[in-house]
This record gives sequence, structure tokens and C-alpha cells, in this order.
Amino acid sequence: MNRNAKLPENEEGTVLFNIDPIIIKQHYEIDYIHSYAQDSPFFAGLAAGRLLGSRCAACDYTFATPRSHCMECGGTTDWVELPLHGRVHTWTTCYFGGEAFLKETPFTLILVEFDGVDTLFLSRLVGVEPGETEIGMQVKARFLRNAKFRATDVYFVPN
Ligand SMILES: [Zn+2]
Repeated sequence: MNRNAKLPENEEGTVLFNIDPIIIKQHYEIDYIHSYAQDSPFFAGLAAGRLLGSRCAACDYTFATPRSHCMECGGTTDWVELPLHGRVHTWTTCYFGGEAFLKETPFTLILVEFDGVDTLFLSRLVGVEPGETEIGMQVKARFLRNAKFRATDVYFVPN
């Protein structure tokens, strides 16, 4: 028995943001393995330079952001290839963002409208200074050359 036993300690510090209550900085990291399941074709499409939406098999309502079932009638949908050219329906400039995008602020988000498609597609507009974006502006899709299999693999530029 050793009544003087001690855990080993190092001399690493802790970033203290506040005292009452105590707020500290603590690194947190996790690998998250998850499935895109029925959404997989959308992300595979982005990697291949294609935008895939879905169209209701019953009423033809067409979704730019794919859905497995129709919001209008509840019918099942089929995959459909979207045009790569569209128009800015509306836009906003983000001066703040989540951790992944914070270093890229300010950036512009747009809702894209496509001919023959009933819903809008949220994406990023690149190549336009904040304040230069206009409703109705013609835009075309661009894709990351090295796909990350994320929604940000596609973005838009002025056409
Ligand atoms: Zn429908």
C-alpha cells in the first residue's frame, strides 16, 4: 500500500474563457460513419458532375432537392437529371457561418430555380462580390473536381 501515490501530471495548460461559470476550451473530435441510404444517387451524381432531383411518379411534381416521396400527393418519386443552368430566385450574403464555413465569410447563398422544376435548390454562388448578386441572374453549376460526397460538392457561378 502506498498512501502517497500520485497520478502522473503534465504541464499542459487549459484555455479559460470565463471564471463564473467556468468556461474552458476542450478539443473534441469524432469520426462519424453514416449512410446516405436512399439519397446516395444524389451524392454519386455530384461526384460525376450531375445534379439529380426527383419527380413524382403520380403527379409529375419535380423536386430540385430530391425526395423519396412527393410532398404534394405522397406518391413515390423517380430520379431525374436537373439542368445545370438556372436563375437566382433569391440570395443572401452570410457574414457568419458554422465552423466549417466561418473562414470563408462573407459568402453568398442562393436559391436556384430551374426550368421544369417545381422547387428551388440551395447552393453557394461563387465569383460574385457581396452586393453584386441579382434576382434573376443566370447561373450555372460547377462541381468540385475532388468530390467530398457532400452537398457542397456543387456550387454555382454566374453564367
Ligand atoms: Zn405527387
